[in-house]
Amino acid sequence: MNYFPLTGEQQAWKDRVSSIAEKTIGPRAAEYDRLAKFPQESLDALKDAGLLGLRVSKEHGGLGADMVTTCLVVEEVAKKCPSTAMCYKMHLESMEAVSRIPTAYQLEKFVKPLARKKIFAAAAGGESRGQTGTDWRPVSAPDTPLKSVDGGLLLENVRKSYVTSAGHAEVYIMFCRVEGGRTDGPPDLLMIEADQVEWETVGEWDGLGMRGNASTPMIFNGVVPYENLLGIELEGEKEPVMQRYMMPVLILTYAAAYLGIASGAFDLACVEGDRRFASGARRLDNPINKRRIAELSAQIQSARAFLHTAASMADDGRATSLLPYIQAKVICSEVAVRVTQDLMTMFGGTAFSKQLPFERYFRDARAGLIMGMANDQAYEVIGDLMFPALSS
Ligand SMILES: Cc1cc2nc3c(=O)[nH]c(=O)nc-3n(C[C@H](O)[C@H](O)[C@H](O)COP(=O)(O)OP(=O)(O)OC[C@H]3O[C@@H](n4cnc5c(N)ncnc54)[C@H](O)[C@@H]3O)c2cc1C
Repeated sequence: MNYFPLTGEQQAWKDRVSSIAEKTIGPRAAEYDRLAKFPQESLDALKDAGLLGLRVSKEHGGLGADMVTTCLVVEEVAKKCPSTAMCYKMHLESMEAVSRIPTAYQLEKFVKPLARKKIFAAAAGGESRGQTGTDWRPVSAPDTPLKSVDGGLLLENVRKSYVTSAGHAEVYIMFCRVEGGRTDGPPDLLMIEADQVEWETVGEWDGLGMRGNASTPMIFNGVVPYENLLGIELEGEKEPVMQRYMMPVLILTYAAAYLGIASGAFDLACVEGDRRFASGARRLDNPINKRRIAELSAQIQSARAFLHTAASMADDGRATSLLPYIQAKVICSEVAVRVTQDLMTMFGGTAFSKQLPFERYFRDARAGLIMGMANDQAYEVIGDLMFPALSS
C-alpha cells in the first residue's frame, strides 16, 4: 500500500513498470551482478516501453511523467535490479535539463530523438580533484574551463572519474566550465554526442556493488558545438541551469533507486520469512525477526512517504530550495543500508552463502552513501541550507 495518495495514472505506471520489472528485469539481475555485465537487455525493455522518454513532455512525443511517477518507476526497477535502475536514472537525469529548456536546435537534436527512443544518455560529471592535488574533495566542476575554438568548445583529454554506462550511451552530459563563463557554483552542462567526438573508457568496472553499471572513467577529445551548451538562451536567470533544471530529478531518482533496494530486499524477506521449514516453523515465527521486519516496514514506509512528498513538492513548485530533495536522498539511502544490513542477519548463512540475493542488495545499497552527493557532503549542504553563513 502506498501511503502517499497516488492518482490513477501514477498507480497505473507503477503497476505497469512493476510487471516489466518482474517478468523481464528481475530474472537477469543476478547474472549482471555476477559477471559485472552491463544490463543492456533490461534497459532495452524499458526503452521498448517508451520509458527512456519518461520525462519528455507529451507535446514533444514523450510520456510527460511528473516527479512522483518518475520516483515510482525508478523504485520498481530498483526493486528487481539496482544496476539497471542506476543506469536508467542516470539517463533520466542526463536528459532532464535539455528536455525542460531546449533551444530550437536542441529540441530537434536531442529531445525529439529521445522521444523516438533513439537516445540513451549518461552523466560524465565528477572529476577527482585529488588528481590535481589541490583538494581531497570530489568536484563536479573542473578547474580548467573548456577553450573556445573554431566550431565550438574544445575537449582536450577531459577525464571523468566514474561514468555509469560508460561506452554504452549515445549522449553524455558533461559537467564543465567554459572559457569566459561562470567560475564558481554549479558547473555548466554540455551535451556531447558520442559519435561526434573521440572517447575511451579506462579499465573495467569491478565494483563491490552496482556491478552492472559499467561506471569506469572516460576520457574525451574533440570539438563540441557551442549550441550543445544548455541554457544559452536563458541569460539573466538567477539560478544556474543545473541547480534548477537538473538537480531535482538527479537527487530524487537517487533516492528512489535506494528506496527500491530497501523495498526489493524487504519484499523478498516477507516471502522467504513466511516460508515454512520442514518443522513447520517460519523464520518470522521468531519474535526477534518479527520485531525486526516490523521495524523495517515502518522505516521503508516513512522513507517512501517522505520521498513522494518531496517529489510532489517538485511537481507543484513548492520547494524553495533543494533541502527536501537532499533530505529524501539521505533518508532513502540510509534506509537501504539499514534494511539490507538487518536482512543479512535475519537470513543468516542462507544470505551469507548467496542462496538468496540479500547480499547483492546489501552490496548495492552501500553505493547510496557515497554516490551522487555523498551523504557526508549532503549533510553539510543540508546544514548550510538550514543555517546559511552570515554574509560579512
Ligand atoms: C557505482 C558508482 C557510479 C557512479 N556513477 C557516476 C556517474 O554516472 N557520473 C558521475 O559523474 N559520477 C558517478 N559516480 C561518482 C560519484 O558521484 C562519486 O563517487 C562521488 O562524487 C564521491 O567521489 P569519490 O568517490 O571521489 O569520493 P571521495 O572524494 O574519496 O570521498 C569519500 C568520502 O569523503 C567524504 N567527502 C567527500 N567530499 C566531501 C564534502 N564535500 N564534504 C564532506 N565530506 C566529503 C565523504 O565521507 C565521502 O563519502 C559514481 C560512483 C559510484 C561508486
